[in-house]
Amino acid sequence: MTIRVLPPEVADAIAAGEVIERPASVVKELIENSLDAGARRISIELRGAGRTLIRVADDGRGIPREELALAFRRHATSKVQRLADLAAISTLGFRGEALASIAAVAEVECRSGGGRILIRTGAVLEDGAGPPAPGTLTEVRDLFVNTPARLKFMKTDATETASAVHLIRAYAVLHPGVRWELRIDGRTSLATSGDGDRRRALGAVYGSSVEAALVEIEAEGVSGAISQSHLHRGNRDAIVLAVNGRPIASRSLQYALEEAYLGSLERGRYPVAALDLAVDPDQVDVNVHPAKREVRFRDERAVFATLQRTVRAALAGSRPAVISIEAALRVEAPPLRQLAVRAPVPQLAAATAEPAAAEMPLRPLGQVLDGYLVAEGPEGLVLVDQHAAHERILYNRFLARLRGAPAVSQPLLIGMVVEVEPAQAAAAADHRTELCNLGFDLEEFGHRSVRVLAAPIELPAGRVEAALLELLEVLAGGRADDRVERVAAAAACHSAVRFGDPLDLSEQRRLLEELEREPNAQTCPHGRPTRLFLSVEELRRHFRRNY
Ligand code: ADP
Ligand code: MG
Repeated sequence: MTIRVLPPEVADAIAAGEVIERPASVVKELIENSLDAGARRISIELRGAGRTLIRVADDGRGIPREELALAFRRHATSKVQRLADLAAISTLGFRGEALASIAAVAEVECRSGGGRILIRTGAVLEDGAGPPAPGTLTEVRDLFVNTPARLKFMKTDATETASAVHLIRAYAVLHPGVRWELRIDGRTSLATSGDGDRRRALGAVYGSSVEAALVEIEAEGVSGAISQSHLHRGNRDAIVLAVNGRPIASRSLQYALEEAYLGSLERGRYPVAALDLAVDPDQVDVNVHPAKREVRFRDERAVFATLQRTVRAALAGSRPAVISIEAALRVEAPPLRQLAVRAPVPQLAAATAEPAAAEMPLRPLGQVLDGYLVAEGPEGLVLVDQHAAHERILYNRFLARLRGAPAVSQPLLIGMVVEVEPAQAAAAADHRTELCNLGFDLEEFGHRSVRVLAAPIELPAGRVEAALLELLEVLAGGRADDRVERVAAAAACHSAVRFGDPLDLSEQRRLLEELEREPNAQTCPHGRPTRLFLSVEELRRHFRRNY
């Protein structure tokens, strides 16, 4: 098909948006173009985290020389012509916007079909003959040279590079028939053979130990590979889900995959997976998200069920019995047990004789004056500030997670979009690991908002936004020495029961039991006391009961 400018009614029907947000967006658009052009070899080079140079070379069918300038016009595409084409898109690109958007914010040189064009911030500087080499070579230099604000809010080089690498890895495992090469500042960072073997491609991307632990899936339109349950990771970075070769972000499919591992993976641990779902193009709408990251299925439940069924079947076929029993036992352990550190610490009651917590149950008697719990122990009476106590428990727990204990998070049924300052958005990207360790699953959503896909299980739904904003504030703040502690304290403060929240007796008992187990339980993270103890002796003295 030749390249044409889309008629307005088609252009208007396309989900518009800012496609070029960061270097990874450029990489994504260029490799999608190479794949659409039928390339079998795609070489990518990044310099200066993509700000200095992004270079993509392919051996695809190329752009005819006379169409080269047209390719850089807005809404010029060879992939879609009529409105009806949008209903069944089989290519990765379809908007005809990417090259124009990139050339608007950088210097772009493109050689293809015997031609060469040089465009700087939207202006064509040269358009003439080029080398008669096959394929297409595109170089993007000085990204965001004319948009200083965008440049200013780019994250650290490491973060920007990581985000591009993450993306390239996803395409590499989804398209094992393509020979991928990635060089970062002159060093080869990824090389696949392109022999079509997905398992080998996964090995090339994630390492040979991963390759050995994979089970392949090829059923009901789901193809790819997943890790057996003994191989897992602390985050979702090695999970690639795709529809018709296009990596997508889908809460629900992610959940389907994780659910299939239920009972064999501890909470907070995630598989390695690369799964591509073949879905009829007219059963899926890819025209819903500006960066084409999300899709909408006509029958989402069917897709969900298919994914889950095929993954379960593959796992059932692969899992040696001993591993599943072991794993089942691990999962049954209450999360608190995994986290609570039993240390020789002051117990709730008398400081002298310190019997083990289990031998010294506190009997909750009720809640008084809005937020104090009253309890009786063998040595006396205890008043507990419910907020301070819960804060201490959660603080210790969050701190343990930030230092590597498994997180327990709860997916939000509908992702929550939270508006943030650019500095906070940058903090969200730069501190992904910490936030993930706490139990947050966040996704960038434009440069002024983030989307919350999951939150720590302790955090009430109504407080997610406030908590996140404060956490990002803390993370964006300069001082690093006590950052972990301050993050844990902020998360604990927002998650804890409030003074005034009614608690029934069983909730009171649980809170008291947990408090008894905690180290440093005498005070809340801010140093305020959690409880007041009235010993039997003091009461006797006070009431002059001398027996
Ligand atoms: P889209 O991919 O949505 O069509 P782009 O702006 O990304 O829009 O590209 C415009 C057109 O340029 C494409 O439709 C395609 O015809 C051509 N093109 C871009 N990159 C390549 C490439 N690497 N190989 C062959 N053709 C390409
Ligand atoms: Mg494109």
